[in-house]
Amino acid sequence: MSPGGARRNGGRERLRAIPSVESLLRTPSLTELGTRVPRSVVVGAARQTLAALRDALRRGVPGQALSVESLAAEARRRAEQSLAPTLKPVINATGVVLHTHLGRATLPEAAIAAVTAAARWYTNLELDLESGKRGSRMAHLEPLLCELLGAPAVHVVNNNAAAMLLALNTLAAGREAVISRGHLVEIGGSFRIPEILERAGATLREVGTTNRTRLRDYERAIGPKTGLLLRVHASNFAIVGFSESVSRADLVGLARRARVPLLEDVGSGALIDLRPFGLPEEPLLKEALADGVSLACASGDKLLGGPQAGILAGTKRMIDSCRANPMARALRVDKLTLAALDATLRLYRDPETLRGAVPVLRMLGEPAAAVRARARRVVRGLGAELAVLTGAEVIASTAEVGGGSMPLARVPSHAVSVRAPRGKVADFARALRLGPDPVLGRIEADRLLLDMRTVANSEVPRLCASLVRVIRGEGGQG
Ligand SMILES: *Cc1c(COP(=O)(O)O)cnc(C)c1O
Repeated sequence: MSPGGARRNGGRERLRAIPSVESLLRTPSLTELGTRVPRSVVVGAARQTLAALRDALRRGVPGQALSVESLAAEARRRAEQSLAPTLKPVINATGVVLHTHLGRATLPEAAIAAVTAAARWYTNLELDLESGKRGSRMAHLEPLLCELLGAPAVHVVNNNAAAMLLALNTLAAGREAVISRGHLVEIGGSFRIPEILERAGATLREVGTTNRTRLRDYERAIGPKTGLLLRVHASNFAIVGFSESVSRADLVGLARRARVPLLEDVGSGALIDLRPFGLPEEPLLKEALADGVSLACASGDKLLGGPQAGILAGTKRMIDSCRANPMARALRVDKLTLAALDATLRLYRDPETLRGAVPVLRMLGEPAAAVRARARRVVRGLGAELAVLTGAEVIASTAEVGGGSMPLARVPSHAVSVRAPRGKVADFARALRLGPDPVLGRIEADRLLLDMRTVANSEVPRLCASLVRVIRGEGGQG
């Protein structure tokens, strides 16, 4: 018999030696677990454990433990893991402020309180308390947004992609949307302007080239089939060198002459000028509207610093038609988002306290010296012995805005740089991700950098505890 055949034969014998589900359930470990968690969970975990073992034996994977005790321990680990939510807080030490994979903006305290209240109690979401009759959920957001944006009317939907879909479907279904080839962007993999246009029922009418588009190009494309002119902020990339684009003012003029609406996707939704933070200029919704754009849209969870949402602002006629579109119902914001957005926007009324109250602005605006002081606290928190073991030191670093905003902006920051105490740095990073308080950093050369611009002071003790646990090899997994 070939060695492989012998292994399979031995495997068959071992398959017969697999313990029963019942024998696992009778172990003290799983009996005790059964007093705390639903029986179906324990039984399910025991079955999964045995199925995985059977599979491994069939494939001839060596070194499978067959004892009832070790299998019960594995089943217990599976059951406990299946009970813990998979969505959990993580410590963002990547230095990317609006990290899309980590949920973009963290909310201001006022917004968190508003969400909690809206979740716990009934609210007057769609009831006008004055008349006792049905009201609009937008009534809670519209006055404040109109005030902040200087807009005649606003509408809020699930996210900016939804805002674009609604606006394009309302204004350009069955018609052409005229757009520069330099504006045909992709944001984060699944949001591509040409595809959204197609799904909205509009026909793409590209003009100009990737790097140069002139007013003449737009003029030549406008005709009886034109539904709108579209401008999209290239938020996640930059075209440098031999480039030319049409200014907003020129497009506004053209749209007026041609009597077609101009829709602008401004992207990040910054409500204030961030140049005093040392950041590049970013288009503001307010400016787009003041310049005469008919309709502008942006995200709520990027530079605005609020919850995921899409803000549409523009003329009353444009907003009314968007609201009348049956698609608006499918894209509407829920009450928790509405509460969080309203509370965040209220903070913008007071420029004095704004920077401290909105976490995104606080992170972007914090002086580098304060970031460095936090990094030093982390190194001290490791204790002398572990700091020496990992060669922990504070180094200058650069943070990023992220979330597809300001791709060229570099925010001066400081990071704690550590070496893996043993093995590869990738395994060290993995163990930090898999611990009870996951920490995300970035690997540079053979060191793990923990950028402190995106870590709050209040997270420092948890960050230190996670580091100490993994450096001491108490990670358990990884
Ligand atoms: C981020 C972004 C979007 C997508 O916004 P979501 O709120 O994530 O749907 C669309 N357009 C531009 C220009 C963006 O920067």
